[in-house]
Amino acid sequence: MQILFLGTSCMFPTKERAQPCVLMIKNGSYLLFDCGEGAQRQLRIAGISPMKIHNIFITHWHGDHSLGIAGMIQSMAGNKRKTALNIYGPKGSKKRVACLLKAFDFKIEYELKVHELDLKLGECRPVLKAKDFTISAFRVKHGSATLAYVFKEADKRKINIEYTKKFGLVQHPVLGKLQKGLDVEYKGKLIKAKDATYIKKGKKIVYLTDTIYFKDLKNLIKDSDILICEATYMSDKEDKALEYEHLTAKQAGMLAKESNAKKLVLTHFSQRYENVQPLIKEAKSIFKNTIEAKDFLILELR
Ligand SMILES: [Zn+2]
Ligand SMILES: [Zn+2]
Repeated sequence: MQILFLGTSCMFPTKERAQPCVLMIKNGSYLLFDCGEGAQRQLRIAGISPMKIHNIFITHWHGDHSLGIAGMIQSMAGNKRKTALNIYGPKGSKKRVACLLKAFDFKIEYELKVHELDLKLGECRPVLKAKDFTISAFRVKHGSATLAYVFKEADKRKINIEYTKKFGLVQHPVLGKLQKGLDVEYKGKLIKAKDATYIKKGKKIVYLTDTIYFKDLKNLIKDSDILICEATYMSDKEDKALEYEHLTAKQAGMLAKESNAKKLVLTHFSQRYENVQPLIKEAKSIFKNTIEAKDFLILELR
């Protein structure tokens, strides 16, 4: 499992940072979260073909999170794509994609499926279920309709090798049965799956941008392994953050702490901060395991 940060600025791209875009790669699935301007060029620089992407999850239709979609649709058409592209987004997404298709002279031979997610505040609903992961969405408070996404790996049953060794069982087809949760008989002895296996919890990654801080947010994002969170401003600009419906670095730190996150990755920095270290420091004063997202940062999860 890999997380590749392709854009970590906000409204204005800078020399170092492109507009918001994060790619998660899980067992051959390429999942794009937001698609700011220049997203496909960032992908090219990272050595990844946009053709691999089948699912794009848009938080909201502010330009910094969505300006790259038109270019992506066009390049996929130009490359004679035949497989469907799924775009997930908040209420109103179907109309917006239809407007894009009208605005540009596209010739598209693939299916463009728009999944409009009309969620109530406080509701968290699965939007994509695959064999080894689920992606859910919930509403946040930023403009009219903005979503945040939760990527959750499926839990896995693993073999307790120390235990099976006692039966002389190291490599054998019956291990596969145990892994499916079935009890087995081996050399006349019963081996129970509940003793010979354990459940490894799948990783949980939250993608949270843009929003203000609100009461129930910590419950919606709880127990994440990685919380990717906006930190548009420092806390001395808390009024501005509230006015434009964003979080400060301090609030991001508070959210990580209150929601029991393991690691906080700050992103969506205002262009006013050429050096974002003071923001990292501010969040770290509340939640120690905080890092800065940079364009092309890769996080590997095992
Ligand atoms: Zn934004
Ligand atoms: Zn926004």
